[in-house]
Amino acid sequence: MSHYIVLVKQVPDVSQITDNAFDPKTGNLIRTRLPSVINELDAQGLAFAWKMRNLQNDPESKVICLTMGPPMAAEVLKYGLSRCADDVVLLTDRALGGADTFATANPLAYGIRKIVKDKLGGTDDYFVVSGMQSVDGDTAQVPAQIAEEMKVPCIPYATDAEYINGKFRFTRIIAGGSQVVEAHQMPAVVTVAKYEYPLFATFAASRKAERAEMTQWTAKDIGADNVGVKGSKTRVIRVFPPGKTTRKCQEVTEVKELAKLIAGAAGKGGAGEKEDKTEAGPSYVPPARRESKFDRSYEGTDKENDDFKELNRLLSEMKIEDVNKIDGKQFDEILEKSDGGFHKKALEDMLNALKSTETSYSGEVWVMAEHGEDKINSATFELTGKARELADSLGTKVGVCIAGDAVKKFTDELIHAGADKVYVIEDPLLKEFDPTVYRKAVADCVAKYDPQIVLYGATPQGRVLAPMVSYRLKCGLTADCTGLEIRDSSRKGQVAILFQTRPALGGNIMATIVTKDSECQMATAREGVMTRLEPDTSRTGEVIEHKVELKPEDQSLDIIKTEMATGQVNFEADVITAGGKGMQDRDEFDSMIDMLNGVIGDKFGVSTEKGASRAAVEQGFIDRVHQVGQTGTAVGPELYIAIGISGAIQHMIGVSNSETIVAINSDPNAPILKQCDYYMIGTADDIVPKLVEELKEA
Ligand code: FAD
Repeated sequence: MSHYIVLVKQVPDVSQITDNAFDPKTGNLIRTRLPSVINELDAQGLAFAWKMRNLQNDPESKVICLTMGPPMAAEVLKYGLSRCADDVVLLTDRALGGADTFATANPLAYGIRKIVKDKLGGTDDYFVVSGMQSVDGDTAQVPAQIAEEMKVPCIPYATDAEYINGKFRFTRIIAGGSQVVEAHQMPAVVTVAKYEYPLFATFAASRKAERAEMTQWTAKDIGADNVGVKGSKTRVIRVFPPGKTTRKCQEVTEVKELAKLIAGAAGKGGAGEKEDKTEAGPSYVPPARRESKFDRSYEGTDKENDDFKELNRLLSEMKIEDVNKIDGKQFDEILEKSDGGFHKKALEDMLNALKSTETSYSGEVWVMAEHGEDKINSATFELTGKARELADSLGTKVGVCIAGDAVKKFTDELIHAGADKVYVIEDPLLKEFDPTVYRKAVADCVAKYDPQIVLYGATPQGRVLAPMVSYRLKCGLTADCTGLEIRDSSRKGQVAILFQTRPALGGNIMATIVTKDSECQMATAREGVMTRLEPDTSRTGEVIEHKVELKPEDQSLDIIKTEMATGQVNFEADVITAGGKGMQDRDEFDSMIDMLNGVIGDKFGVSTEKGASRAAVEQGFIDRVHQVGQTGTAVGPELYIAIGISGAIQHMIGVSNSETIVAINSDPNAPILKQCDYYMIGTADDIVPKLVEELKEA
C-alpha cells in the first residue's frame, strides 16, 4: 500500500495580470492586487495522485497535501481537502519566507520526513507527487531538489501512470519522444507535466474542508538546515518588464486579407520580423584589465553605474588618486559634496569596492552537453557559443562536459563549436538518461575541476540534472535564462559574476538573479535564445577523460520502453503548416494541412512541410517526427502557419526563428495570438477551405 504526499502551492493568478499589478517604480509585483489560486500543475498533480491511489485501490492508503507559505496558503490545503486529501500540513514561519528553490526544497524535504514519521508510521512506501513547476517561478527545480535532498528516485515529466503487477509504471516526456519507467526503489518523487482529468469539489468534502483542523509546523518543528533568505543560494538583483515582442500580433478579420498576407510572406520571402535577441550592455572587462582602476562601468544596475560615475567625478575634483589613503576628513567631504546622494554605508562600500580588483570566482566556463539519437543537441552548441563569449571576457577557457556510453566521438565537433577543453565521462550505465546516475557522474566531475560557471540547456534533461547537481554541490541555480552576462555588483563585493536574466510569472516580468554563497554559478538557458558560433574546423582543444565509479545500484529508474520519433521530414522547407489539438481528428488534420500546403506550394513555387504540436502528436493526428518545439524540432521557415495550436511556451520556443507566424485559432484569448504576426479567430474547418479558395485566386 503506497501513500501520496502531494505538494501544492498557492500562486498569483497570472492569467489575470493587469498593468496596475506592478509597482511602476520598482517593477515589483504587488501580490495583493492579484487573486491567489492553486498552481495549475499542482492541481493536476493532486488528480494524478488520486488516480494512482484508485489504481492501487487500497482504502488504507492516504493522500496528504503539503504546502509552505504564509497562513493564507491554507486556502490551497482546503482545495486539497475538498477534492480528495485525507490530511493536510502547512509549513508556515517568517523564517521560511523569501526562499529560492534551494531553500524551498530543503524545508519541504524535512516536512515530508516529518509527515512520514508522525503521520505515516515511518513507512518507505510513499510517493511525493508534485506539479512539474509553478507558474510564479517556472523553475521546475524544487521537486528534483527534494529528490536529491531525500536521495530518492525522481520521475520527471510524468503524463500517465499504470499499475501493473503491484508496481507503478509512468509514461514521461523525454526529448524527441516518450518513455515508460518504474522507480527502482521507494519512496520516489513524481513530477506531473500534464494530467487531463481535474478533480471537482464535492459538497460534503467542501464542508469538511471548512471545518478541518490543519497541522501547522514552523521551521523549528521540522529542523531544516537551509531556509529563507539566509539559506538561499541566489538573490534577485532587479525585476523589470519584458521587452515588447517584435511580432506584429495583428488581427485579420477577412479571409481575403489573410490570403494576401500569406501570399506576401510565402511568395516574397517573409514579411515579419524576427524576435530581437540581442542582449544589452557592452562586453565585460575585469577590473584588473581596465584602463583606469576607478572604472566601474560594468555594474549590474544603472543606479550603481551612476553612483560610481558620481563618486569618480568627486574623487577627481578632490584630486584623490589613491582610495587607500582617504582619511576621515576627506570621507566627510565626499559625503557633503554628494549632497545627500550617498549614505555613509553606501560610500564605505563603494570605496572598498574601488580598492579591490579581484574577481569573485575563478575557473573555466562550462557547458553540460546533451546528446541523443547519435548527435549533439542544438542547445549545447548555442550554450557553447555563449560560454565562449563569457569566457573570453573573463580571460578563461571554455570546457564542455559530456557524459554517455560512447561519446568521445563528439569531441572534435564540440571543439569546433568553441570548446577549449572537452571533459568526457564514459560508462555503459550512462547510455540512457537516469537522473541519479548522471547526477553522480557530473557532480563528481564538476567538483574535481571546479569551473566558475556551469550552463545547462533548459531541456527536459537539463531541467532535472541541473537542480540535482547544484543541490548536491550546494550551488545556486537559475532556471530558464534568456540572458547571461558578466557584470559586477561591486558594493556587495561581487566582481565578475554571472548575471542571469529570466522570465518569471508566466513571462509577465523579467528578473535578474545572481548566485550567492556558492562555489560555482549554475544556470539553465532556454533553447533558441543564445547564438551558435559558425563551426571552426581549424580549432584545436584538449580532451580530458574523467572516470567515475558507477554501479548498477546507482540507477534510480528501470526503463521499460522508449519511443522516439522516426521517419523523414523536411523542416528546411520555406513554409511549415502545423496543426494542434484544435484539429478535431487525424482526417481533419491531414485534409486541412494538405490542402493549404498544396495550394501554397503550387501557387508560389515554395517547398512546404507539415508540423504539429506535441498534443496533436499525442492525439495520434500525425507521427512524432513532425513535432515542433522544445522536445520536437526547432524550425525557422519563412512562414509558419499554426492551426489550432494554443501557443504553449514549449511549442513557441521551437518556432521563434520563423520569419512570419500566422495563427488560426477559435479562442480569442489563445496565448499564440500575442506571439504571432497575423491571426484570424475562427475554427479551422470554417477558415481553411475559404483560405484555400482565396489563395487559388491570389
Ligand atoms: P492545446 O493547448 O490543447 O490547444 C489547442 C488549441 O486549439 C486551443 O488554443 C484552442 O482554442 C484551439 N482550437 C480548438 N478547436 C479549434 C478549431 N476547431 N479550430 C481552430 N482552433 C481550435 N508542445 C509542443 O508543441 N512541442 C514540444 O516540443 C513540447 N515539449 C514539451 C516538453 C515538456 C517538458 C512539456 C511539459 C510540454 C511540452 N509540450 C510541447 C506540450 C505543451 O506544453 C502543450 O501542452 C502543447 O503544445 C499544446 O498543444 P496544442 O496547442 O496543440 O493543444
